Amino acid sequence: TGTLTYGQMVVTDIVTQDESEFLRMVASIEKYSEHPLARAIVTKASEMNIELVDVNDFEAISGFGVIGTYQNQSLKVGNQRFVEGAGHSLSAQADNLSNQGKTSMWVKLDDEIVGLIAVADTIKEDAKQTVAKLKKQQIDVVMITGDNERTATAIAAQAGIDHVIAEVLPEDKANKVMELQASGKKVMMVGDGINDSVALVQSDVGLAISSGTDVAIESADVVLMHDELDDIDKTIRLSKATLRNIKQNLFWAFFYNVVGIPLAMGVFTFFG
Ligand code: ADP
Ligand code: MG
Repeated sequence: TGTLTYGQMVVTDIVTQDESEFLRMVASIEKYSEHPLARAIVTKASEMNIELVDVNDFEAISGFGVIGTYQNQSLKVGNQRFVEGAGHSLSAQADNLSNQGKTSMWVKLDDEIVGLIAVADTIKEDAKQTVAKLKKQQIDVVMITGDNERTATAIAAQAGIDHVIAEVLPEDKANKVMELQASGKKVMMVGDGINDSVALVQSDVGLAISSGTDVAIESADVVLMHDELDDIDKTIRLSKATLRNIKQNLFWAFFYNVVGIPLAMGVFTFFG
């Protein structure tokens, strides 16, 4: 998802009893995380002048969320699966937020779900245009993300992508690429996060965005220096043009040899 959006996430909704106490708790744990979702939450807390406290035993579970000890209680912030929120009364609200393309995070204190916090990002201006250009070249565009199905579908719809593979754990992204390859396709993967790097290596061509994480950049075959999605289309065109040029040069080289070598061998003498 982060590849298609600007990555400037903002908190849009908070569903809980006591908003500022809730935000203090959530931001206190998220300040230890480097995830873009976490940064949005910490920024919101500082805008509201909320003082953060220390959280112990912090641990980030990639693709799920974060866990720690907040005032001697176990605190979890993450997706619905992470807090075992299936069937909870807040599910309808979470679904509603997701349908709007927002990423809603669940908050669980000890064994009780205490609220939701939703974050949204804006889709990059050139995302829709780029997807359209790729489709025109008979390229099947697929969105692969750890985000939940509804959020992913909402974002994909904005970009004009109709093939979505959602709720994919970081370690499974490469497997999904392999599945596409097994169906006979050549796969070019575009990514920016740590959770994309294995899939970038697995794909036939891995393409990283320079504003992404270092490990994604290290894993990629091509790095786009500007944060512009249109460069994906340019990369493909440039590659095709380069290959065409190589083929043309080879044609002339072989053609010249086919004609030139017999001449040098004295074909004319043979014909008198
Ligand atoms: P993507 O494939 O879009 O980069 P991730 O694999 O990074 O997604 O994250 C998947 C999901 O895990 C997020 O949508 C979010 O619900 C949850 N998550 C990940 N990190 C955090 C965090 N620091 N705080 C809360 N939730 C998180
Ligand atoms: Mg990402």
